Amino acid sequence: MDKIITIDGPAGAGKSTVSRIVAKELDFLYLDTGAMYRAVALQAKMQDLDFSDGDGLKEMCGRLDLRFVSDGDVPRIFNGEEDISLVIRSPEMDMLASRVSAVKEVREAMTGFQRRIGAKRGLVAEGRDMGTVVFPDADKKFFVTASVEVRAERRYQERAYRGEPILKEEVLAELKKRDEQDSNRSIAPLHPASDALILDTSFLSIDEVVKAILISTRGYLEDGENAESPQF
Ligand code: C5P
Repeated sequence: MDKIITIDGPAGAGKSTVSRIVAKELDFLYLDTGAMYRAVALQAKMQDLDFSDGDGLKEMCGRLDLRFVSDGDVPRIFNGEEDISLVIRSPEMDMLASRVSAVKEVREAMTGFQRRIGAKRGLVAEGRDMGTVVFPDADKKFFVTASVEVRAERRYQERAYRGEPILKEEVLAELKKRDEQDSNRSIAPLHPASDALILDTSFLSIDEVVKAILISTRGYLEDGENAESPQF
């Protein structure tokens, strides 16, 4: 198995941007596992599947044909021939992905899929349970977080920029609900691995977070042991 870096954390902490840049810098594959759960939610909705029907969801997961294509700055995700990159990013999919990801059969299917990808080449795996469940023996683990207010503000700005009519209070309420669901589910809840380096990005720029991760990771990759945690 090749080197694996895991980057977990709650929604809006800046994980995706940071993970993408880190993967590019290290020439590793970037795996957005949130997009996979979003794809499951989308397909379940299209097939009108009941979220309590574990067997039905398992069968559906087995028929998914997910592919990541990274020919630009932002990787795209396909199910078969269909580019679903945009449609999975709606507020509705935020909440449906969080619900469907609590289903045991769905998690088992996605975990297997993610491990098969990780067996192929160097990987930056981003999600909620990468360091705790999917890749417990990862070479370096990070938990990227920020206060819920800061995360909500970032999400609000993203949506306002896209021209979506949304209130700040709604974004904050949705984020709190998702945090609550993701942290309190019985399988693979959101929490830092005991050996993860925790980075609170509330007052850090993307560049600073990327730098911290690269210093720590390159030190490890070069020395074969844990480099010291970067100080700010
Ligand atoms: O990271 P993103 O916000 O795209 O993830 C969408 C949802 O997918 C999360 O709220 C979470 O419920 C679920 N997820 C998960 N495990 C992962 C990645 C995402 O449960 N590894």
